[in-house]
Amino acid sequence: MSCIDLHSHSTVSDGSLAPADLIRHAAQQGVKVLALTDHDDVAGLNAARTAARPVEISLIAGAEISVTWRDRTLHIVGLKIDPHYPALQQGLRAIRDGRVDRAAKIAEALANSGIDGSLEGAYGFVRENIISRTHFACFLVSRGYAGNMKNVFKKFLVKGRPGYVPHRWAELADVVRWIKDSGGRAVLAHPGRYGLGGATLRQLLEEFRALGGDALEVVSGSHTPEMTQRFAGLAAEYGFLASCGSDYHGPDRGYGEIGRIPPLPSGCAPVWHDWPEASALAVSAA
Ligand code: AMP
Ligand code: MN
Ligand code: MN
Ligand code: MN
Repeated sequence: MSCIDLHSHSTVSDGSLAPADLIRHAAQQGVKVLALTDHDDVAGLNAARTAARPVEISLIAGAEISVTWRDRTLHIVGLKIDPHYPALQQGLRAIRDGRVDRAAKIAEALANSGIDGSLEGAYGFVRENIISRTHFACFLVSRGYAGNMKNVFKKFLVKGRPGYVPHRWAELADVVRWIKDSGGRAVLAHPGRYGLGGATLRQLLEEFRALGGDALEVVSGSHTPEMTQRFAGLAAEYGFLASCGSDYHGPDRGYGEIGRIPPLPSGCAPVWHDWPEASALAVSAA
């Protein structure tokens, strides 16, 4: 269990709880410091901040930003960003516009394999702004094309499957710059999820560090214990801070519970080492 959870999603992106409900749920689960990190959008942060005050959660302003690096998709979490910073806002808007175009292509690809109406169907699951593969997944499951979220991705929405279309997200250098220039810390999200071989992974870590990247998400809801140990070692080796987050998407989305993540392995330098809201936590826990 951890009372610091720095990766979560609301209905602003592909989570199933509205920001205020997510905050109340986090409080019930004992979370004290929570980052809301919706994909490519910061529109939930105001409502989250308002909801956080009465339940005594320290809300960290965040976003999980989609990047294309060497033809692969990576996710960079920005923590303590300034959501009003113009370059960040413009960059996120451009990514969201790209999502709209991609959604039309996904629907076309699915139509080519005999599944009609998926664009309207997917938008039917969008609660606020972002259209994502998760919304296509919800549509496909609702129509019985697959039994659950995991299988629907495997069958339709990943590379080599009928509903997959390649897409170019933002550049790594730009994303790190938006985050840093807005006053935030840049974290490589769930590094174990990308299936990178050792050499490529090291090239990524060097490039990320050279660009000003701050931290690796050592503890993630999608990491095995082996991955956690491996990335703790790599964070120490490369001088990265370490972050932790459940990647919670809501009760029905096939992810782990909010706040239910192991502690950072010893030897990690926490990304929150100089955050007042986290040090207050250490004092009150003592
Ligand atoms: P997108 O950014 O539109 O490509 O959508 C990516 C989102 O789909 C991720 O943030 C996850 O929430 C979800 N996702 C990706 N792969 C899977 C999977 N295998 N099972 C469940 N959800 C997934
Ligand atoms: Mn997601
Ligand atoms: Mn992610
Ligand atoms: Mn995420």
